[in-house]
Amino acid sequence: MRWPKLRELKEAVNAVVSPRFTTRFPAEPCVVPERFRGKPEFDLDTCIGCGACVNVCPAASCLTMVDALDADPPVRRITHRYDCCIFCGNCQDYCTTQTGIALSDKWDLAVLNRGDTVETHEYELQMCEKCGAKIGTKKHIIWLCEKLGPLAYTNPSLLLAKSGELTRTPPKPDSSAPSGPQARDFMRILCPKCKCELNIKL
Ligand code: SF4
Ligand code: SF4
Repeated sequence: MRWPKLRELKEAVNAVVSPRFTTRFPAEPCVVPERFRGKPEFDLDTCIGCGACVNVCPAASCLTMVDALDADPPVRRITHRYDCCIFCGNCQDYCTTQTGIALSDKWDLAVLNRGDTVETHEYELQMCEKCGAKIGTKKHIIWLCEKLGPLAYTNPSLLLAKSGELTRTPPKPDSSAPSGPQARDFMRILCPKCKCELNIKL
């Protein structure tokens, strides 16, 4: 029994004269290691509201998306609840624009009210000017145009989007006009279904 006691005494003396092993947080800020996975944050300049991050998020209720089609104008709402986040990094890895969301080095995320962990961002939706179906967010369409470059000019809907026509008031439906695709629909922003019908029938 004597030797173990001496060993413990040696440990105690060592602990007294050794430097501190813990950090001085919160008296001093805590420096996180490189590539630390902290709170995911949206970059609203480069996020286009496509929803790919929502589809790859494995944590239930963490990233959710709702399209409010009856809002004026129709909008997509992407909500992030960081109290449900598991900091896996999928959203960052699979982001369409690669910079729309990124894991920051923020780790001190405790709040008294869980509602404070909820962030919602809105993106205006583009609807088909022929049938009223949802096409996607306006930012997503403009991003596509820029990605395609000159190829975007093969698609009049993208052309209208690229030239800033997305903010225009869509032409009102004309009840006296014959039903089905018409030549003037070429200069409208159309969903893939209407565009396909137009191309086949005209
Ligand atoms: S880090 Fe993982 S759990 Fe958190 S929002 Fe991104 S995909 Fe979802
Ligand atoms: S995948 Fe990227 S660009 Fe698309 S909604 Fe998520 S953060 Fe935004």
